[in-house]
Amino acid sequence: MSGSDSVVIVGGGPAGLACGIELLRSDADREVTVLEREPSPGGIAGGFSRGGLDYDYGSHRIHPSVEGRVLAFLTGLPGLELRRKRRNGRILLGGRLVRFPPSPVDALVKLPPGLSMRILGDQIGGLFRSGSTSVAPGSFSEAVESGTGRTMAHAFYIPYTKKLWGLPADEISSFQAARRVSSARPGGLLTKVLGGLPLVSRFDPSRFFSYPAGGFGALAEALAREFRRLGGTLRTDSEVVSVSYEGASMKATTSDGFSRTAGRLVWSAPLDALASSFTAAAPAEVLAAAGRLSYRSMVLLYVQIESGPYTRFDAHYFPDGSIRFSRMSEPRNYLCGPATDAGRGRTGLCLELPCDMGGDDWKAGPEVLYERLLEDLRGSPLPPPEAVGDIWVRRLTHAYPVYRMGFEQDLRTVSEWSLSDPRLVLTGRQGLFAHDNLHHAIETGLAAADCLAGPGFDTDSWRKRLEGFRLHRVSD
Ligand SMILES: Cc1cc2nc3c(=O)[nH]c(=O)nc-3n(C[C@H](O)[C@H](O)[C@H](O)COP(=O)(O)OP(=O)(O)OC[C@H]3O[C@@H](n4cnc5c(N)ncnc54)[C@H](O)[C@@H]3O)c2cc1C
Repeated sequence: MSGSDSVVIVGGGPAGLACGIELLRSDADREVTVLEREPSPGGIAGGFSRGGLDYDYGSHRIHPSVEGRVLAFLTGLPGLELRRKRRNGRILLGGRLVRFPPSPVDALVKLPPGLSMRILGDQIGGLFRSGSTSVAPGSFSEAVESGTGRTMAHAFYIPYTKKLWGLPADEISSFQAARRVSSARPGGLLTKVLGGLPLVSRFDPSRFFSYPAGGFGALAEALAREFRRLGGTLRTDSEVVSVSYEGASMKATTSDGFSRTAGRLVWSAPLDALASSFTAAAPAEVLAAAGRLSYRSMVLLYVQIESGPYTRFDAHYFPDGSIRFSRMSEPRNYLCGPATDAGRGRTGLCLELPCDMGGDDWKAGPEVLYERLLEDLRGSPLPPPEAVGDIWVRRLTHAYPVYRMGFEQDLRTVSEWSLSDPRLVLTGRQGLFAHDNLHHAIETGLAAADCLAGPGFDTDSWRKRLEGFRLHRVSD
């Protein structure tokens, strides 16, 4: 199985599976194999059922910024039903819970008056500063201070950033702000808040989202089912540990000794795994650069509650350091309801704890983490959960790329090396080291398939697509 047109895709997340589906749609005779490390596909956008309820890996929604081709791709997946829902979250700011996305009336009533006045003052002042929408070079803290103003930067973005990436905001590149902070432009936050006025919000698309009936696990299943229906081979429990050249082809070998040789290799797995797998296939400086690009991990604590709901909100955001978790979601409130009768009358919570792999939080078991949660909730307006049943954890090895100051040079080294070899394509959130949304990851997978559709790899077109991907801005 080593025809020059055959493709092996490393990683069965949304990007890898979208790429595989598109390759098979354009050429049904092609041999396409996906090798996935985990027992089930879907990557960090997967999901599972337990105790009669559906759970995702942290709060997941399909944002309204999904458009055009990716939307058509998702709605065209057989068996996948997307439902539209209004966002209904809260954020803990200044010790108070306020609506998120923000609403001006709610913020005025609930936030300490000094805080809301300072935020408003910064925003109005921002309108009279430069009208530029681009973020100045430098650190994340400089970028958000000049964009959202000092008050919001210090009450929200800077502490939240420390929690998510484990680094002070002045050690993180401003590229992170360009990627993630949609209101990091003068007056941007004001526009967002005004979008929450009762009449306006009904027509503001950013206040809505789509969600798969059955949770994100249903989306992962739909992707895997369609890939297999088209004739693709999906092998799970298959961690690729080595990649080498076999004449004009590439050979991927998994930890259980299985190997697949193909004319093209699409890598949608993390770059640190590339550094350890390509030891015989990439120059030392590329391996070193890929190894320096680090990712933040995450522990997910799940708490099943025997009566419910715990709240009527879909998600709670915790930017400040008094709560070590960054977000809490209540999956039932994302529309899905119970997966089976066993889930009736129950609810569940998913708490996201960003951390470093191997550290204390990473290694902690569910009971220890639950005790830490109770400790944190004691000082907050949220009550401790009652009637708690099953608790468990799941761990994400690669939750977020870390854009340390100066990371761009290492990423360029890896990217230019991959562009010099038409047999290899790096794609997806992990392969491109991109902090992106699910729809962006799918777009990169579809684009990789386009560039592989001809007899060779269309490197010029791929370069242009890469430039476009740099403009992706994360919806949160
Ligand atoms: C907490 C959290 C919440 C999020 N919420 C949202 C949201 O609300 N909306 C949204 O649009 N996006 C959200 N995202 C982003 C979204 O989950 C990702 O953009 C998307 O999953 C990326 O897909 P991918 O296929 O590129 O990467 P991944 O999903 O990471 O898939 C990569 C795959 O590669 C596999 N792999 C790794 N190493 C190997 C190896 N050596 N061999 C074989 N396989 C390997 C992994 O197991 C994984 O399945 C969220 C992300 C996080 C962390």
